[in-house]
Amino acid sequence: MKGRLFSLYARQYGLHHMNRLHPVDGALNGGSIDLAAAKDNTDLLYIHIPYCESLCPYCTFHRIQYDARSAAAYFQALQQELTLYHWLGYQFTALYIGGGTPTVNSKLLKKLVLFARKLFPIDQLSVETNPNFLTNDNVLFLKDLGVNRLSVGVQSLQNDLLDQMGRLNPYGDKARILAHLSRAIPEFDTVNIDMIFNLPGQTEAQLLSDLDTINNLKPTQVSWYPLMPSRQSAKAMSKSMGTFSFTQEHAFYRLIDDAMAVQYQAGSAWCFNLKDHPSAIDEYVVTHENYVGVGSGAFGYQNGQLMATSFSIDDYIERVNSGHSGITQMQRMSHTEVLRYQLLMQLFSLKVPHRFWLERYQLLPDQLFGRELKILRWMGAIDIDQDGIRLTQYGRYVWVVLMREFFMGVNQYRSTMRQLVNPAVQ
Ligand code: SF4
Repeated sequence: MKGRLFSLYARQYGLHHMNRLHPVDGALNGGSIDLAAAKDNTDLLYIHIPYCESLCPYCTFHRIQYDARSAAAYFQALQQELTLYHWLGYQFTALYIGGGTPTVNSKLLKKLVLFARKLFPIDQLSVETNPNFLTNDNVLFLKDLGVNRLSVGVQSLQNDLLDQMGRLNPYGDKARILAHLSRAIPEFDTVNIDMIFNLPGQTEAQLLSDLDTINNLKPTQVSWYPLMPSRQSAKAMSKSMGTFSFTQEHAFYRLIDDAMAVQYQAGSAWCFNLKDHPSAIDEYVVTHENYVGVGSGAFGYQNGQLMATSFSIDDYIERVNSGHSGITQMQRMSHTEVLRYQLLMQLFSLKVPHRFWLERYQLLPDQLFGRELKILRWMGAIDIDQDGIRLTQYGRYVWVVLMREFFMGVNQYRSTMRQLVNPAVQ
Protein backbone atom coordinates (compact mmCIF):
# COMPACT_ATOMS: atom_id res chain seq x y z
CA MET A 1 0.00 0.00 0.00
CA LYS A 2 2.77 2.45 1.01
CA GLY A 3 4.64 1.49 -2.17
CA ARG A 4 1.56 2.03 -4.37
CA LEU A 5 0.93 5.49 -2.91
CA PHE A 6 4.53 6.42 -3.37
CA SER A 7 4.57 5.17 -6.95
CA LEU A 8 1.54 7.35 -7.79
CA TYR A 9 3.20 10.37 -6.17
CA ALA A 10 6.44 9.69 -8.09
CA ARG A 11 4.58 9.40 -11.42
CA GLN A 12 2.94 12.77 -10.91
CA TYR A 13 6.33 14.21 -9.98
CA GLY A 14 8.06 12.94 -13.18
CA LEU A 15 5.22 13.99 -15.48
CA HIS A 16 4.96 17.35 -13.74
CA HIS A 17 8.53 18.25 -14.73
CA MET A 18 8.29 17.07 -18.33
CA ASN A 19 4.88 18.67 -18.90
CA ARG A 20 6.30 22.02 -17.87
CA LEU A 21 9.01 22.09 -20.51
CA HIS A 22 8.04 24.89 -22.87
CA PRO A 23 9.49 26.27 -26.13
CA VAL A 24 12.38 28.70 -25.87
CA ASP A 25 14.62 30.48 -28.29
CA GLY A 26 18.08 28.93 -27.97
CA ALA A 27 19.66 31.60 -30.17
CA LEU A 28 23.06 32.75 -29.01
CA ASN A 29 22.28 36.45 -29.18
CA GLY A 30 18.84 37.73 -28.23
CA GLY A 31 17.59 34.24 -27.30
CA SER A 32 15.63 33.64 -24.10
CA ILE A 33 18.32 31.67 -22.23
CA ASP A 34 21.65 32.86 -20.90
CA LEU A 35 23.77 29.97 -22.18
CA ALA A 36 26.91 31.06 -20.33
CA ALA A 37 25.28 31.66 -16.92
CA ALA A 38 26.45 28.38 -15.38
CA LYS A 39 29.72 27.93 -17.26
CA ASP A 40 31.85 28.08 -14.11
CA ASN A 41 30.06 25.29 -12.26
CA THR A 42 29.32 22.93 -15.16
CA ASP A 43 32.09 20.46 -15.93
CA LEU A 44 30.18 17.68 -17.68
CA LEU A 45 29.28 17.61 -21.36
CA TYR A 46 26.75 15.04 -22.59
CA ILE A 47 26.68 14.37 -26.36
CA HIS A 48 23.77 12.42 -27.84
CA ILE A 49 24.30 10.20 -30.90
CA PRO A 50 20.82 9.12 -32.01
CA TYR A 51 21.76 6.49 -34.63
CA CYS A 52 21.44 2.71 -34.16
CA GLU A 53 22.08 -0.29 -36.43
CA SER A 54 18.71 -1.69 -35.51
CA LEU A 55 15.84 -0.29 -33.40
CA CYS A 56 14.79 -2.30 -30.32
CA PRO A 57 11.01 -2.18 -29.69
CA TYR A 58 11.19 -1.47 -25.93
CA CYS A 59 13.61 1.44 -26.34
CA THR A 60 12.45 4.91 -25.34
CA PHE A 61 15.65 6.79 -26.13
CA HIS A 62 15.81 9.26 -28.97
CA ARG A 63 17.17 6.98 -31.71
CA ILE A 64 16.75 6.46 -35.45
CA GLN A 65 18.00 3.97 -38.01
CA TYR A 66 21.62 4.69 -39.00
CA ASP A 67 22.02 6.56 -42.26
CA ALA A 68 25.57 7.41 -43.39
CA ARG A 69 24.72 10.74 -45.06
CA SER A 70 22.61 12.03 -42.20
CA ALA A 71 25.24 10.93 -39.64
CA ALA A 72 28.04 12.76 -41.49
CA ALA A 73 26.06 16.03 -41.42
CA TYR A 74 25.03 15.44 -37.81
CA PHE A 75 28.56 14.85 -36.50
CA GLN A 76 29.68 17.99 -38.34
CA ALA A 77 26.91 19.96 -36.61
CA LEU A 78 27.99 18.55 -33.23
CA GLN A 79 31.43 20.08 -33.77
CA GLN A 80 29.71 23.37 -34.49
CA GLU A 81 27.75 23.20 -31.22
CA LEU A 82 30.88 22.26 -29.24
CA THR A 83 32.60 25.32 -30.71
CA LEU A 84 29.71 27.45 -29.45
CA TYR A 85 30.11 26.18 -25.87
CA HIS A 86 33.87 26.65 -26.10
CA TRP A 87 33.34 30.22 -27.26
CA LEU A 88 30.99 30.78 -24.29
CA GLY A 89 33.85 29.86 -21.96
CA TYR A 90 32.96 26.33 -20.82
CA GLN A 91 35.83 24.15 -19.58
CA PHE A 92 34.36 20.65 -19.57
CA THR A 93 36.53 18.03 -17.89
CA ALA A 94 34.16 15.08 -18.32
CA LEU A 95 32.55 13.92 -21.56
CA TYR A 96 29.73 11.37 -21.72
CA ILE A 97 28.75 10.16 -25.19
CA GLY A 98 25.45 8.31 -25.14
CA GLY A 99 22.77 7.29 -27.56
CA GLY A 100 21.51 5.60 -29.60
CA THR A 101 24.80 3.95 -30.38
CA PRO A 102 27.79 6.34 -30.30
CA THR A 103 30.09 3.73 -31.91
CA VAL A 104 27.81 3.27 -34.93
CA ASN A 105 30.46 5.03 -37.07
CA SER A 106 33.84 4.84 -35.36
CA LYS A 107 35.58 7.21 -37.79
CA LEU A 108 33.08 9.96 -37.04
CA LEU A 109 33.28 9.21 -33.31
CA LYS A 110 37.07 9.49 -33.34
CA LYS A 111 36.96 12.80 -35.19
CA LEU A 112 34.41 14.15 -32.69
CA VAL A 113 36.38 13.08 -29.60
CA LEU A 114 39.64 14.52 -30.98
CA PHE A 115 37.82 17.76 -31.74
CA ALA A 116 36.30 17.91 -28.22
CA ARG A 117 39.72 17.23 -26.68
CA LYS A 118 41.18 20.19 -28.60
CA LEU A 119 38.54 22.51 -27.13
CA PHE A 120 38.19 21.21 -23.57
CA PRO A 121 40.52 19.72 -20.91
CA ILE A 122 38.71 16.37 -20.86
CA ASP A 123 40.14 13.84 -18.44
CA GLN A 124 37.17 11.48 -18.15
CA LEU A 125 35.51 9.94 -21.18
CA SER A 126 32.47 7.63 -21.04
CA VAL A 127 31.12 5.99 -24.18
CA GLU A 128 28.11 3.73 -24.69
CA THR A 129 28.20 0.83 -27.12
CA ASN A 130 26.64 -2.54 -27.96
CA PRO A 131 28.36 -5.91 -27.40
CA ASN A 132 28.86 -6.72 -31.10
CA PHE A 133 31.17 -3.70 -31.47
CA LEU A 134 33.74 -5.13 -29.06
CA THR A 135 36.07 -6.93 -31.49
CA ASN A 136 39.82 -6.89 -30.72
CA ASP A 137 40.40 -3.97 -33.08
CA ASN A 138 37.51 -1.94 -31.70
CA VAL A 139 38.54 -2.48 -28.08
CA LEU A 140 41.99 -1.15 -29.02
CA PHE A 141 40.36 1.75 -30.84
CA LEU A 142 38.33 2.74 -27.75
CA LYS A 143 41.41 2.41 -25.53
CA ASP A 144 43.43 4.65 -27.86
CA LEU A 145 40.61 7.16 -27.78
CA GLY A 146 41.12 7.36 -24.00
CA VAL A 147 37.78 5.86 -22.92
CA ASN A 148 37.73 5.48 -19.11
CA ARG A 149 34.21 4.17 -18.73
CA LEU A 150 32.70 1.91 -21.33
CA SER A 151 29.00 1.21 -20.94
CA VAL A 152 27.71 -1.80 -22.85
CA GLY A 153 24.01 -2.35 -23.51
CA VAL A 154 23.55 -6.06 -22.81
CA GLN A 155 19.96 -5.98 -21.41
CA SER A 156 19.63 -9.76 -21.02
CA LEU A 157 21.72 -12.91 -21.35
CA GLN A 158 18.76 -15.10 -22.31
CA ASN A 159 18.69 -15.91 -26.01
CA ASP A 160 14.90 -16.18 -26.17
CA LEU A 161 14.44 -12.80 -24.46
CA LEU A 162 17.11 -11.25 -26.69
CA ASP A 163 15.21 -12.62 -29.67
CA GLN A 164 11.93 -11.09 -28.45
CA MET A 165 13.73 -7.81 -27.87
CA GLY A 166 14.99 -7.79 -31.47
CA ARG A 167 18.61 -7.89 -30.26
CA LEU A 168 19.70 -11.47 -31.04
CA ASN A 169 20.70 -10.89 -34.65
CA PRO A 170 22.18 -7.42 -34.58
CA TYR A 171 23.95 -7.61 -31.21
CA GLY A 172 24.68 -11.31 -30.63
CA ASP A 173 23.58 -14.26 -28.51
CA LYS A 174 24.74 -15.01 -24.98
CA ALA A 175 27.94 -16.82 -26.01
CA ARG A 176 28.96 -14.02 -28.36
CA ILE A 177 28.12 -11.29 -25.84
CA LEU A 178 30.20 -13.01 -23.15
CA ALA A 179 33.17 -13.43 -25.51
CA HIS A 180 33.06 -9.73 -26.40
CA LEU A 181 32.66 -8.61 -22.78
CA SER A 182 35.51 -10.83 -21.56
CA ARG A 183 37.79 -9.14 -24.08
CA ALA A 184 36.79 -5.60 -23.04
CA ILE A 185 36.53 -5.89 -19.23
CA PRO A 186 40.29 -5.96 -18.43
CA GLU A 187 41.04 -3.05 -20.77
CA PHE A 188 39.17 -0.10 -19.20
CA ASP A 189 39.00 1.56 -15.78
CA THR A 190 35.28 0.85 -15.67
CA VAL A 191 33.21 -1.46 -17.85
CA ASN A 192 29.55 -1.07 -17.02
CA ILE A 193 26.99 -3.47 -18.37
CA ASP A 194 23.39 -2.31 -18.66
CA MET A 195 20.80 -4.95 -17.81
CA ILE A 196 17.00 -4.66 -17.79
CA PHE A 197 14.74 -6.43 -15.31
CA ASN A 198 10.98 -6.93 -15.28
CA LEU A 199 10.80 -7.59 -19.02
CA PRO A 200 7.46 -9.04 -20.20
CA GLY A 201 7.67 -12.82 -19.90
CA GLN A 202 10.94 -12.77 -17.91
CA THR A 203 10.95 -15.53 -15.29
CA GLU A 204 12.67 -15.70 -11.91
CA ALA A 205 14.82 -18.58 -13.21
CA GLN A 206 16.00 -16.49 -16.17
CA LEU A 207 16.90 -13.58 -13.91
CA LEU A 208 18.79 -15.85 -11.49
CA SER A 209 20.67 -17.40 -14.39
CA ASP A 210 21.75 -13.93 -15.62
CA LEU A 211 22.82 -12.97 -12.10
CA ASP A 212 24.90 -16.12 -11.86
CA THR A 213 26.57 -15.45 -15.21
CA ILE A 214 27.36 -11.86 -14.22
CA ASN A 215 28.85 -12.93 -10.88
CA ASN A 216 31.18 -15.25 -12.82
CA LEU A 217 32.04 -12.65 -15.46
CA LYS A 218 32.75 -9.91 -12.88
CA PRO A 219 32.42 -6.68 -14.90
CA THR A 220 33.47 -3.63 -12.89
CA GLN A 221 29.93 -2.29 -12.76
CA VAL A 222 26.40 -3.50 -13.48
CA SER A 223 23.37 -1.23 -13.88
CA TRP A 224 20.07 -3.06 -13.39
CA TYR A 225 17.35 -0.83 -14.83
CA PRO A 226 13.69 -1.64 -14.36
CA LEU A 227 11.88 -1.60 -17.69
CA MET A 228 10.40 1.89 -18.04
CA PRO A 229 8.30 2.16 -21.18
CA SER A 230 6.41 5.16 -22.44
CA ARG A 231 2.78 4.60 -23.56
CA GLN A 232 3.98 4.36 -27.17
CA SER A 233 6.85 1.95 -26.50
CA ALA A 234 4.62 -0.27 -24.29
CA LYS A 235 2.31 -0.59 -27.31
CA ALA A 236 5.17 -1.37 -29.71
CA MET A 237 6.66 -3.81 -27.22
CA SER A 238 3.42 -5.71 -26.68
CA LYS A 239 3.57 -6.95 -30.31
CA SER A 240 6.90 -8.78 -29.95
CA MET A 241 7.48 -9.10 -26.20
CA GLY A 242 4.10 -9.28 -24.47
CA THR A 243 2.29 -7.09 -21.99
CA PHE A 244 4.19 -5.03 -19.46
CA SER A 245 3.25 -4.98 -15.77
CA PHE A 246 4.83 -3.86 -12.48
CA THR A 247 3.66 -6.98 -10.58
CA GLN A 248 7.04 -8.72 -10.31
CA GLU A 249 9.27 -5.65 -10.15
CA HIS A 250 9.87 -5.54 -6.39
CA ALA A 251 10.46 -9.30 -6.08
CA PHE A 252 12.93 -9.16 -8.99
CA TYR A 253 14.76 -6.22 -7.44
CA ARG A 254 15.15 -8.20 -4.19
CA LEU A 255 16.66 -11.11 -6.14
CA ILE A 256 19.09 -8.73 -7.83
CA ASP A 257 20.01 -7.02 -4.57
CA ASP A 258 20.69 -10.35 -2.81
CA ALA A 259 22.70 -11.89 -5.64
CA MET A 260 24.76 -8.78 -6.34
CA ALA A 261 25.64 -8.37 -2.64
CA VAL A 262 28.05 -11.34 -2.89
CA GLN A 263 30.66 -9.46 -4.94
CA TYR A 264 29.26 -5.99 -5.52
CA GLN A 265 28.25 -3.00 -3.48
CA ALA A 266 25.49 -0.61 -4.44
CA GLY A 267 26.78 2.68 -5.90
CA SER A 268 23.29 3.99 -6.60
CA ALA A 269 19.79 2.56 -6.32
CA TRP A 270 20.27 0.49 -9.50
CA CYS A 271 24.01 0.48 -10.11
CA PHE A 272 26.41 -1.99 -8.45
CA ASN A 273 30.22 -1.68 -8.31
CA LEU A 274 32.62 -4.57 -7.86
CA LYS A 275 33.75 -4.60 -4.21
CA ASP A 276 37.44 -4.88 -5.03
CA HIS A 277 37.16 -2.03 -7.54
CA PRO A 278 35.94 0.87 -5.41
CA SER A 279 37.04 3.55 -7.89
CA ALA A 280 34.48 2.58 -10.54
CA ILE A 281 33.18 5.67 -12.33
CA ASP A 282 29.46 6.13 -11.65
CA GLU A 283 26.66 7.33 -13.88
CA TYR A 284 26.94 11.03 -14.64
CA VAL A 285 23.68 12.01 -12.93
CA VAL A 286 25.19 10.68 -9.69
CA THR A 287 28.49 12.54 -9.83
CA HIS A 288 27.67 15.77 -11.68
CA GLU A 289 24.98 18.16 -10.51
CA ASN A 290 25.07 20.35 -13.63
CA TYR A 291 25.58 19.23 -17.22
CA VAL A 292 25.18 20.54 -20.74
CA GLY A 293 23.40 18.35 -23.31
CA VAL A 294 24.52 18.64 -26.92
CA GLY A 295 23.03 17.00 -30.03
CA SER A 296 19.48 16.15 -31.03
CA GLY A 297 17.17 14.95 -28.23
CA ALA A 298 19.64 15.70 -25.41
CA PHE A 299 18.80 16.99 -21.94
CA GLY A 300 20.82 19.40 -19.82
CA TYR A 301 20.41 20.65 -16.25
CA GLN A 302 22.06 23.78 -14.91
CA ASN A 303 21.25 25.68 -11.72
CA GLY A 304 17.55 24.85 -11.63
CA GLN A 305 16.97 24.92 -15.39
CA LEU A 306 16.05 21.77 -17.26
CA MET A 307 16.70 22.06 -21.00
CA ALA A 308 15.99 19.85 -24.02
CA THR A 309 17.34 20.13 -27.56
CA SER A 310 15.45 19.67 -30.82
CA PHE A 311 14.28 16.11 -31.54
CA SER A 312 14.34 16.72 -35.29
CA ILE A 313 17.79 15.89 -36.67
CA ASP A 314 17.29 18.23 -39.65
CA ASP A 315 16.08 21.06 -37.44
CA TYR A 316 18.98 20.48 -35.05
CA ILE A 317 21.55 20.63 -37.87
CA GLU A 318 19.97 23.76 -39.31
CA ARG A 319 19.86 25.55 -35.93
CA VAL A 320 23.41 24.73 -35.03
CA ASN A 321 24.78 25.57 -38.46
CA SER A 322 23.21 29.01 -38.19
CA GLY A 323 25.11 29.64 -34.95
CA HIS A 324 22.45 28.71 -32.37
CA SER A 325 22.47 26.05 -29.67
CA GLY A 326 20.25 23.01 -30.22
CA ILE A 327 18.06 23.94 -27.21
CA THR A 328 14.38 24.34 -28.04
CA GLN A 329 12.62 23.65 -24.72
CA MET A 330 13.26 24.50 -21.10
CA GLN A 331 11.75 24.62 -17.66
CA ARG A 332 12.85 27.01 -14.95
CA MET A 333 12.21 25.25 -11.65
CA SER A 334 10.94 27.01 -8.54
CA HIS A 335 13.06 26.94 -5.36
CA THR A 336 10.96 24.06 -3.95
CA GLU A 337 11.27 22.11 -7.20
CA VAL A 338 15.04 22.54 -7.22
CA LEU A 339 15.21 21.25 -3.63
CA ARG A 340 13.11 18.20 -4.48
CA TYR A 341 15.12 17.54 -7.66
CA GLN A 342 18.36 17.73 -5.64
CA LEU A 343 16.97 15.37 -2.99
CA LEU A 344 15.93 12.90 -5.71
CA MET A 345 19.28 12.95 -7.52
CA GLN A 346 21.50 13.08 -4.43
CA LEU A 347 19.74 10.26 -2.61
CA PHE A 348 19.89 8.19 -5.80
CA SER A 349 23.57 7.76 -4.84
CA LEU A 350 22.33 6.33 -1.50
CA LYS A 351 23.42 9.03 0.96
CA VAL A 352 23.56 12.80 1.24
CA PRO A 353 25.76 14.42 3.88
CA HIS A 354 24.16 17.29 5.82
CA ARG A 355 27.12 19.33 4.53
CA PHE A 356 25.51 19.32 1.05
CA TRP A 357 22.50 21.32 2.32
CA LEU A 358 24.43 23.44 4.81
CA GLU A 359 26.87 24.66 2.14
CA ARG A 360 24.09 25.60 -0.27
CA TYR A 361 21.25 26.78 1.99
CA GLN A 362 22.74 27.04 5.52
CA LEU A 363 19.91 24.76 6.65
CA LEU A 364 19.63 21.14 7.75
CA PRO A 365 17.50 18.72 5.67
CA ASP A 366 14.77 18.57 8.33
CA GLN A 367 14.37 22.33 7.95
CA LEU A 368 14.17 22.02 4.16
CA PHE A 369 12.07 18.87 3.71
CA GLY A 370 10.07 18.38 6.94
CA ARG A 371 7.07 16.66 5.30
CA GLU A 372 8.96 14.57 2.70
CA LEU A 373 11.43 13.23 5.25
CA LYS A 374 8.62 12.35 7.66
CA ILE A 375 6.88 10.32 4.95
CA LEU A 376 10.13 8.62 3.88
CA ARG A 377 10.91 7.72 7.51
CA TRP A 378 7.38 6.39 8.03
CA MET A 379 7.89 4.20 4.98
CA GLY A 380 11.21 2.93 6.38
CA ALA A 381 13.01 4.28 3.31
CA ILE A 382 15.61 6.48 5.04
CA ASP A 383 17.71 6.77 8.17
CA ILE A 384 19.01 10.13 9.36
CA ASP A 385 21.99 10.45 11.68
CA GLN A 386 24.44 13.20 12.60
CA ASP A 387 26.28 12.87 9.25
CA GLY A 388 23.47 12.76 6.76
CA ILE A 389 20.50 10.96 5.21
CA ARG A 390 20.90 7.37 4.02
CA LEU A 391 18.62 5.10 2.05
CA THR A 392 17.78 1.85 3.84
CA GLN A 393 17.75 -1.39 1.87
CA TYR A 394 14.00 -0.95 1.30
CA GLY A 395 14.66 2.72 0.52
CA ARG A 396 16.84 1.68 -2.41
CA TYR A 397 13.84 0.02 -4.00
CA VAL A 398 11.71 3.08 -3.19
CA TRP A 399 14.32 5.12 -5.08
CA VAL A 400 14.22 2.71 -8.00
CA VAL A 401 10.47 3.42 -8.16
CA LEU A 402 10.98 7.16 -7.88
CA MET A 403 13.68 7.28 -10.55
CA ARG A 404 11.74 4.88 -12.76
CA GLU A 405 8.73 7.17 -12.61
CA PHE A 406 10.87 10.25 -13.19
CA PHE A 407 12.45 8.62 -16.26
CA MET A 408 9.07 7.33 -17.48
CA GLY A 409 8.04 11.00 -17.50
CA VAL A 410 11.21 11.77 -19.50
CA ASN A 411 10.51 8.81 -21.83
CA GLN A 412 6.95 9.97 -22.39
CA TYR A 413 8.29 13.39 -23.34
CA ARG A 414 10.82 11.79 -25.73
CA SER A 415 8.12 9.67 -27.40
CA THR A 416 5.82 12.68 -27.80
CA MET A 417 8.62 14.79 -29.29
CA ARG A 418 9.70 11.98 -31.63
CA GLN A 419 6.14 11.52 -32.85
CA LEU A 420 5.84 15.24 -33.53
CA VAL A 421 8.85 14.90 -35.83
CA ASN A 422 7.69 11.63 -37.40
CA PRO A 423 4.16 10.41 -36.55
CA ALA A 424 5.02 6.90 -37.84
CA VAL A 425 7.70 6.46 -35.16
CA GLN A 426 6.88 4.52 -31.94
S1 SF4 B 1 18.30 -0.14 -26.83
FE1 SF4 B 1 20.22 0.74 -27.57
S2 SF4 B 1 20.60 -0.29 -29.53
FE2 SF4 B 1 18.43 -0.64 -29.03
S3 SF4 B 1 17.35 1.03 -30.09
FE3 SF4 B 1 17.75 1.72 -27.98
S4 SF4 B 1 19.65 2.85 -28.09
FE4 SF4 B 1 19.50 1.63 -29.98
